[in-house]
Amino acid sequence: MTTTRPAGLTDDFLEALVKRVPGSSGATWKLTEVYTGELLVELPQSTPEDIEAAFAEARQAQALWAKWPVKKRLEVFERAHTLLLDNALTTTDLIQAESGKNRRMAVEETCDPPMIISHYLKRAAKLLKPIKRGGPIPMLSSSTEVHVPKGVIGIIAPWNFPFATGLSDAIPALMAGNAVVVKPDNKTALSPLYGISLLEEAGLPKGLFQVVCGEGPDVGPTLIDNADYVMFTGSTATGRVIGERAGRNLIGCCLELGGKNPMIVLDDVKVDDWVESAAFGVFGNTGQICMHIERIYLPDSRYDELKDAFVQRAANLRIGASYDFDPEIGSLVSPEHRDRVASHVDDAIAKGATVLTGGKARSDIGPAFFEPTVLEGVTKDMLAGKTETFGPVVGLYRYHTVDEAIRLANDTDYGLNASVWSGDIERAEGVAAQIDSGNVNINDALATAYASKGTPSGGVKLSGVGARHGDQGLLKYTDVKNVAVLKKQVLGARPGQDYDAYVKQMVSSLKLMRKLRVR
Ligand code: NAD
Repeated sequence: MTTTRPAGLTDDFLEALVKRVPGSSGATWKLTEVYTGELLVELPQSTPEDIEAAFAEARQAQALWAKWPVKKRLEVFERAHTLLLDNALTTTDLIQAESGKNRRMAVEETCDPPMIISHYLKRAAKLLKPIKRGGPIPMLSSSTEVHVPKGVIGIIAPWNFPFATGLSDAIPALMAGNAVVVKPDNKTALSPLYGISLLEEAGLPKGLFQVVCGEGPDVGPTLIDNADYVMFTGSTATGRVIGERAGRNLIGCCLELGGKNPMIVLDDVKVDDWVESAAFGVFGNTGQICMHIERIYLPDSRYDELKDAFVQRAANLRIGASYDFDPEIGSLVSPEHRDRVASHVDDAIAKGATVLTGGKARSDIGPAFFEPTVLEGVTKDMLAGKTETFGPVVGLYRYHTVDEAIRLANDTDYGLNASVWSGDIERAEGVAAQIDSGNVNINDALATAYASKGTPSGGVKLSGVGARHGDQGLLKYTDVKNVAVLKKQVLGARPGQDYDAYVKQMVSSLKLMRKLRVR
């Protein structure tokens, strides 16, 4: 096991990365390596004045960038795609050091921005091309839908996928001609900073992609007040605060929030296929994936068999603090988050749930480790039964009819992701159609929906507003300008025309156009 910090993460390298973060007050935040708790770097904290200056610089750069032909803008991302992949292992080191996740998950995360780039390199030029629509009077008028960049997009990102959420939501915004000011979580600012330096190496103009850092409540208000649109990923509680402020400023926002995601396993499932994917769906990224599974509904007829297979897999998962590909599970992000996860498990036990495996912190491995935990007998009066735990903890539930499973899966305020397993895809699709969720994965837990970059992905109910990916994942960063042309003055009554005659003529024209299906 490689427990020592990767040689490339030298003090000089880390200090150079954080240099671009404005911090005029001199205040810093101690960014630490999760596996050891040791200081990695002092991260500057941005004051409101620093944030305003970052927006002013971004606005200046944006005015020039928006004038670049789309093709020239996209060439930057063509080069960035290669650079991001060529440097994926350095990014992996940074993600691991700052978030504590296992290397397998960290390297997967590095693939997200290149996948986003690849998708929008195919779609962006088409989406941004003006669309000529007909005007109200055929031949004599026209209207063109023009997509113009909103200006400067504020992005607030969480710590669980810092590189993906810091970069992937910015890429379509930049392609559309915007500038970006991103606020990563203090804990995980290094990997997005590195990614932005690679984008600049690929030719992104300096000043266009700004980074400001600080605690959310300190930085958030100034960031939202200066932005033309806000893209937020994080908890439902913070999402409400962001949405309220964006609403007051009458700017748009996209809110990608939490979940309490269910998995329904039908009675014809193949246990070997299911158990591996379910283990990843629950414990991947140590349970810190917004789309990860926290509730599994098993059919009464196969409950014991499926439960035993799943518990055995969970108990065998290899946990470790190491910079190689051996561990299947890494750390939680911080001792504070470990305590929150532990409080959900302790509360469940105190109220009558049973621990089938796990249930304990593992300070023998590192300061924020927690065992993969499977609970039975979880009820809605328990924290783990109702609110998002966001850790390696799942409840198993028995159901008797599929209708009952669907009802239980929908019995939540959230609606981000769901999973349905069956040997019969059509049967699973029938169940999927009845689940209130922004994403439903059939015979997978979460990755298929998230990696399908052509389809919008977002939450319903308290899991979010709007979506990323798909056409709207880029078009949301634009305003529509309706440029209309009238070639001859034919609208309205002619001077001196009898108004009754004009109305008659208008009505019959509308009927004729309907008949000819021209308008
Ligand atoms: P969080 O809401 O505490 O923080 C997210 C970001 O918002 C951080 O950068 C934080 O500093 C900032 N923030 C906090 N308070 C703020 C405020 N008042 N104003 C402005 N910014 C503020 O969430 P977290 O604990 O960092 O992340 C975990 C949560 O994110 C989970 O609920 C998870 O489900 C969710 N998440 C959702 C998605 C999705 O796509 N739906 C993806 C990843 C994570």
